[in-house]
Amino acid sequence: MPRDPRYDVLFEPVEIGPVTAKNRFFQVPHCNGMGYRYPSSMAEMRRIKAEGGWGVVNTEEMEISHNSELSPIPEARLWDDADIPILAKMVDGVHSHGALAGAELAHLGGGASNMYSREIPMGPSARPTDLLDPVNVRAMDKSDIRDFRKMHVDAALRCKRAGFDIVYLYCGHDMTTFAHFLSKGRNDRSDEYGGPLENRVRLLRESLTDIKDAVGDRCAIAIRFGLTLVPGPNGDQCDSENHDVVRMLADIPDLWDVQVGDWPFDSSTSRFEKQGHQDSHLSFVKKVTNKPVVGVGRYTSPDAMVSLIKGGHIDLIGAARPSIADPFLPKKVKEGRIEDIRECIGCNMCVTGDFRAVPLRCTQNPTMGEEWRKGWHPEQIKAKTSDETVLIVGGGPSGLEAARALGARGYEVTLAEAQSDTGGRVNVESKLPGLNEWGRVTDYRQYQISQMVNVNVYCESDLTAEQVMEFEADHVVLATGSDWCSSGIGRHNHTAIARDEGASVLTPDEISAGALPQGPVVVFDDDHYYIGGLMAEKLRLAGVEVTYVTPAPDVSNWTHNTMEQGRIQARLIDLGVTIVPLQNLAHIGLEQVTLSCMYTGRETTLPATSVVMATMRKPRETLYNDLLAAGADKACKSLTRIGDCLAPSTIAAAIYSGHRYARELNEPKIEGVPFRRELPALATD
Ligand code: ADP
Ligand code: SF4
Repeated sequence: MPRDPRYDVLFEPVEIGPVTAKNRFFQVPHCNGMGYRYPSSMAEMRRIKAEGGWGVVNTEEMEISHNSELSPIPEARLWDDADIPILAKMVDGVHSHGALAGAELAHLGGGASNMYSREIPMGPSARPTDLLDPVNVRAMDKSDIRDFRKMHVDAALRCKRAGFDIVYLYCGHDMTTFAHFLSKGRNDRSDEYGGPLENRVRLLRESLTDIKDAVGDRCAIAIRFGLTLVPGPNGDQCDSENHDVVRMLADIPDLWDVQVGDWPFDSSTSRFEKQGHQDSHLSFVKKVTNKPVVGVGRYTSPDAMVSLIKGGHIDLIGAARPSIADPFLPKKVKEGRIEDIRECIGCNMCVTGDFRAVPLRCTQNPTMGEEWRKGWHPEQIKAKTSDETVLIVGGGPSGLEAARALGARGYEVTLAEAQSDTGGRVNVESKLPGLNEWGRVTDYRQYQISQMVNVNVYCESDLTAEQVMEFEADHVVLATGSDWCSSGIGRHNHTAIARDEGASVLTPDEISAGALPQGPVVVFDDDHYYIGGLMAEKLRLAGVEVTYVTPAPDVSNWTHNTMEQGRIQARLIDLGVTIVPLQNLAHIGLEQVTLSCMYTGRETTLPATSVVMATMRKPRETLYNDLLAAGADKACKSLTRIGDCLAPSTIAAAIYSGHRYARELNEPKIEGVPFRRELPALATD
């Protein structure tokens, strides 16, 4: 299909200093949990973005020196010449599709503790590092400043040798030495690098000029600049100094990449911020500089992108998460396939890869992070190798993804779903406060399947073992999901929590379906991801008196990894939920619960007439057990469980499970480790 002319503006070339981006789709630097540790994986992931049409593809933050490193989190590294070949591999991949490759030079100062190199971090002033390590930053003296500037020049020259087209200075997210020099709070120097703004901006200005002199003949010089939010009369607003900095440096860099606030705010989840939440803060930048401006806002809609460009807000559409959820987004816009865009849902599962120091994963895009190690391509899948048929029972995320990917392979697929619509847990969870964008998981797959003549979906089909057997499919896939369990068994209780007869205990399934216990209610969270916090929020919004109890130190503890924890806890506090951390639930009575201190075991009581148990989900196994009893595993070629009915986990894991099943059906079984590994591969590549 030809491209809609209203999107033509997105495909205009943009001059960035001495180089030209072929279009306005700009993959901004983003962490990926691969970096220097999994460099082939990182390079292939970036190459595929370029193949998908992004005009510019950047690295993640790239450590330019061993004296500023984030171990154990693997970022890109350019400590010396030895790192050039790895980065050149990424550059070559990006260039092979006509895109520009950018490198984000990062010196993190107090944002890193140097746990690997054991060098003492340095920054504008003596301070503890931002991490909770027992490490202090030393204040840079004049020779350190000279070294620091040289470090950037050396890194820029190495970038040029690696073939990069754009070299960035990272002054964002309140996380780097440049940002710390600019900060009134972090910089209390009394020399020409401290005090008035003209002094605090000096190092940034000098370094921009240095690297422009060093590599500006062939490379564009960019700055990633973080605007700082301060409280204002109508909510948070940009610090007026930000405007001054942009004015002072206006046309020195060839490109301004502007983001707002710290990383958790910049990459807010959809639970807290919607598409374009930074726009109002950053639109001033274009009025001050003549150079192209990049901005992010989790844009997935080409119409919104066009109005940003036409409205004169930005010149290039910056994207990290939309490019992760759909590396082929630009190509789909170009080819008039808007409905095929796999839209980011704003869950930040991708960010957890960085925080947990493992290759990133994406809820929407199961191939993300698997491009090199499994050879998975987001838009290509091997054609079927037989005419065998597949029956999938259950149309939640795992069943839907298996059906979609098997359908794309050409298999004849039947999907049976008990409910009146497919979607499974996504239909339930996307109705919880703030999660409506999660419905995109279902929307994307339902649409794709609706375009396939070889995939038939039957809703309101609650299949029994007998019906499954009668169907006589060659392969039976169970994707029947899971239920929240009321026993209380979880991470801290390995047997059911004691309770009086008649005590009211509800599950998140029941609350999500509309059950409304009268208060006082205790939500007991031994799951630690989002559901316990959401139960408290939902009930409180309905006017119920809620106490949230958890053995963890804070609310929804795992959401530190999705950068939401602070906002979830703040929301519950603002709503008037009482939060009781570091307590286990020992007993449930009719009118009260008994809590036990996680450290001392001392018991206390709380009034509660109902408990909501967010502790664990149990696989729905009945159909599987019935099928085994009926001999289905022998009657058909295969009987397989996928997703939550095998082991309940995240929606991302369910989709991955369904996708993997589809990829592997009738393919030669891989013995041993089912993916390539980087270090052993070095010996043979
Ligand atoms: P997952 O995350 O693994 O995809 P979900 O719980 O989201 O799991 O979805 C499971 C789906 O399976 C639900 O929509 C449920 O209605 C459906 N289901 C469960 N048992 C049956 C069955 N016997 N026949 C048809 N559908 C079923
Ligand atoms: Fe978007 Fe979630 Fe994928 Fe990240 S993991 S790109 S937030 S859908």
